[in-house]
Amino acid sequence: MATPDCPRCRRTLTPFTVMLRRNRWGGTGPAPRPEAWWECPGCGWLGCERRAGAPPAPMRRLESADADCMFCGEEESNVASEPHLREDGLLGDWMVCLACGTSNGRRLGPPSR
Ligand SMILES: [Zn+2]
Ligand SMILES: [Zn+2]
Repeated sequence: MATPDCPRCRRTLTPFTVMLRRNRWGGTGPAPRPEAWWECPGCGWLGCERRAGAPPAPMRRLESADADCMFCGEEESNVASEPHLREDGLLGDWMVCLACGTSNGRRLGPPSR
């Protein structure tokens, strides 16, 4: 697999794995999430490749209360995608806890315009 460069500083990105650690019923252990995840060793840029072959989509680290995972209690572990327009016309994003792998669609409200 080709290693993408950081879109911000052009360094080679480092792959990492986000593990699913919650709701693993039936005795199965943690499993990696299906996406490929990338982090920049230079500037800290985060990306998530949700479709194979697509360039990694930027993910941002959330701050304050939004950064703490409501599922596993880990602090400052949440990252979120860029906001996008949902089917209901509201803005939403996609939040993932890097500690427990729980992902969650969020509703952010009407687009500002
Ligand atoms: Zn970078
Ligand atoms: Zn979590």
